[in-house]
Amino acid sequence: MEPTDASPATSNITVRRGEPLVVITDVNKNFGELHVLKNINATVNRGEVVVVIGPSGSGKSTLCRAINRLETIDNGTITIDGKELPNEGKALAQLRADVGMVFQAFNLFAHKTVLQNVTLGPIKVRGMSKADAEKKAMALLERVGVANQAKKMPSQLSGGQQQRVAIARALAMDPKLILLDEPTSALDPEMINEVLEVMVDLANEGMTMIVVTHEMGFARKAADRVIFMAEGDIVEETTPEKFFTNPQSSRAKDFLSKIL
Ligand code: ADP
Ligand code: MG
Repeated sequence: MEPTDASPATSNITVRRGEPLVVITDVNKNFGELHVLKNINATVNRGEVVVVIGPSGSGKSTLCRAINRLETIDNGTITIDGKELPNEGKALAQLRADVGMVFQAFNLFAHKTVLQNVTLGPIKVRGMSKADAEKKAMALLERVGVANQAKKMPSQLSGGQQQRVAIARALAMDPKLILLDEPTSALDPEMINEVLEVMVDLANEGMTMIVVTHEMGFARKAADRVIFMAEGDIVEETTPEKFFTNPQSSRAKDFLSKIL
């Protein structure tokens, strides 16, 4: 999001800013009889922040996981920066390294220190020297406000701190985009804001982000676009302002009446 552009009247312009980075075309996914993604089409442009919102079970996580190929798709294509996601192999590992992922449950490596959690990817996947990786990791931990926790084990940190480490770990790979799947849902209320603040900063710095969240404050502050999903469909796609003040579909109205 451009820091200078907060007015809803001009946000349609920012919506189309940048070139397409993620292009999802006619994607379907079934789990047995369950049609979880129903011919999904969506584009996320470089520098854009897209909030995905919708009832539990609507396919939000499956879509995120498909973008990172943690989940296969039955048909359709997903391209990242013009390259189609392969199903396996070295090319997949390479593309995956370009996509940072932060999950709801803190998924740090429990047996590694905070610092090691952040240096592991750059050393193993990017071939960075340990010294360089540590320097970079410390700068990132500083940026998310947990540099003083670097030598601790994840279990010694609060949930909010762990989630900020998870964001630092994702950033350490210099990803082209970051996917955050309900990053604050498992947090105690008093820790939600410290994580949202880091996310807002990232958005303001121009990071391309796909964020599954029901945090309306974040959506209003940082999102260029809201995608509302229900039962495997994209039902609405609009600006946060329009979505929250004037949802068009009955499903969105119904959903918002329950969460707001
Ligand atoms: P959301 O993130 O919007 O809550 P999900 O993408 O997690 O939704 O799930 C969409 C639907 O797919 C749900 O009905 C869920 O139970 C089902 N589902 C998700 N993962 C699997 C799986 N591995 N096997 C079978 N069903 C699954
Ligand atoms: Mg989910």
